[in-house]
Amino acid sequence: MERTTRLTVLGCSGGIGSGRHTTCLMIDDDVLIDVGTGVTTLDFGQLLKIDHVFLTHAHLDHVLGLPLLLDSVGDQRTAPVTVHALPEVLDVLSAHLFNWKLWPDFREIPDKGAPWLRFEALARGETRTIGARRFQPLPAHHVVPACGYRIAASGGSLVFSGDTTHCPAFVETVNAMADLRHLVIETSFENALSDIARASRHHWPESLAAELDALKIAPQVWITHLKPGNEAAIMHELRAAVPGRELEALIQGQTIVW
Ligand SMILES: [Zn+2]
Ligand SMILES: [Zn+2]
Repeated sequence: MERTTRLTVLGCSGGIGSGRHTTCLMIDDDVLIDVGTGVTTLDFGQLLKIDHVFLTHAHLDHVLGLPLLLDSVGDQRTAPVTVHALPEVLDVLSAHLFNWKLWPDFREIPDKGAPWLRFEALARGETRTIGARRFQPLPAHHVVPACGYRIAASGGSLVFSGDTTHCPAFVETVNAMADLRHLVIETSFENALSDIARASRHHWPESLAAELDALKIAPQVWITHLKPGNEAAIMHELRAAVPGRELEALIQGQTIVW
């Protein structure tokens, strides 16, 4: 039997409110991509199973659950949680989050020899294998150093863009993936807010339409990071701008199996 990989959407909103959670995607039951407020939907037994975290960037809506996760499970685990991210992203976490001021540095707790947290820098172009899954950082264009991820397994690949605006290198890389099954890509703002989207380096429907126009392959496209309250308007504008492709809004709680 062919092994399958499962993505569970714990959070996929551009904000909070009325049950919405920010970005946190679980791969099978042991890996998280980003640790937004979505991580709080896991029960304690599920939190204990998280061995690896891949971060797209250091913005708070994508990392704020990480210090709480470590604090909750650290003394119950026998191995550290490993955080994989671009070196620049890990530098930000060291300087501004796990700095003994905003939060303790769990790389030294309970001691440096057997800590609850480990950082593993992931260079652009590198691929990290966890079990049967390969995680590859992808180009992104955001206001801070950021990447997307390709998760490749025997059933093909899934790509998650992370936070990004127009990024030719991303499209070029994705176009070379013959086995791409699913593309999870952000669209944060409506067309009327394109100035804010440009300034904060996010997509809006017109920019995403141009990005998808340049795609030479036809994966299932899932839209993520929609701003709270604007979900229906953004999806309406997207469907009008991209008539030729099936687009679905990613939904909190859903699973994608490939
Ligand atoms: Zn961001
Ligand atoms: Zn974000």
